[in-house]
Amino acid sequence: MLINNKDASRQTAPMTADPVDHAAAKLPSLLLVEDSQITRAILSRDLSQRYTLHDALDGEQAWELLCANPEIELVVTDIQMPRLNGHDLLKRIRTSPDPRINGLPVIVMTGADDTADRNQAFANGANDFLTKPVDILELQARVNVHHKLTRTIRELEQSRVRLAELANTDPLTKLKNRRSFEEHGAHHLAMARRYKTDLSLLLLDIDFFKNINDRHGHQTGDQVLTQVADLLAEQVRVVDIVARIGGEEFAVLLPATNRLGAAVLAERIRATIEEAEFPVNGAGLAVTVSIGMASLGAEPLDSVADLLAIADKRLYLAKNNGRNRICVNDQGKSNFLA
Ligand code: GH3
Ligand code: MG
Ligand code: MG
Ligand code: MG
Repeated sequence: MLINNKDASRQTAPMTADPVDHAAAKLPSLLLVEDSQITRAILSRDLSQRYTLHDALDGEQAWELLCANPEIELVVTDIQMPRLNGHDLLKRIRTSPDPRINGLPVIVMTGADDTADRNQAFANGANDFLTKPVDILELQARVNVHHKLTRTIRELEQSRVRLAELANTDPLTKLKNRRSFEEHGAHHLAMARRYKTDLSLLLLDIDFFKNINDRHGHQTGDQVLTQVADLLAEQVRVVDIVARIGGEEFAVLLPATNRLGAAVLAERIRATIEEAEFPVNGAGLAVTVSIGMASLGAEPLDSVADLLAIADKRLYLAKNNGRNRICVNDQGKSNFLA
């Protein structure tokens, strides 16, 4: 059952309202679980002034409401109830695989002498207790504190995720940056060693990129970088790690890929970029890349930096041999057949 707030106009604030006003207008949702009709009526009357109140007569009904109403942010529950009691409801909440449900703050109402109930509720993950008969001011204070605390924790978690994304992402191309690449690289190198699987690396550098900047401007240069990044991301599998690790330099880490597979992909990437249309002021721009390749197992190495150094040496050979080509070994070869 949903008990409507008396001041209904506050709940129907238009979506176009100022975000601050809108946040203030949207009343938080609370679930009250209580089998005693009298207690429920008393508490509801007060809580519905400040919250969008859902109420349930037992744990089973509470569980159905929780699953059906993702906006519920807090639960206040009785213990002794028919069908599903407060302890079992709490256990069901805390063991739910859904993080929205298992992290809900739950305030338990018990009788003054119910020490065993309190102990059990605490062990089951209750956030707070209220003694029956419930003092309405105390209920308000507890509900407010837990509601604010949960919101703050959620906002902190969201900003932590946002900051981690920012710290690991190249702002221009949205690819992973060098820092993130090194982290993933170390992980994949350890995994490849542990499970004796293949691992390869491609290091790409755009040819004569300085000329593109000089002739067409830095902004066009940026567009080329973004388009090359998009083409790269399209060419690889989801498990592959694509990163912009320098100005016009990209790295692609290929887990479970041997040197033959990596050479095939490197050649496909090179050809795709050579054939792609890079529009500049209505005219097509010719963009090519040189690629150096390195694989685990083919050479002794201790770290991702070693793998990068080997690929870099071969990238240099590819440049020296005329650019727009791949180099797969220290002899400057572009495939393993030659
Ligand atoms: P090579 O074929 O030998 O690689 O020649 P190159 O001109 O590509 O290499 P060089 O290292 O001489 O020049 C790279 C240029 O990339 C110089 C630098 O100004 C430019 N650059 C680096 N970062 C950015 C960026 O974020 N945007 C743009 N537009 N240019 C960048
Ligand atoms: Mg009861
Ligand atoms: Mg370069
Ligand atoms: Mg270059």
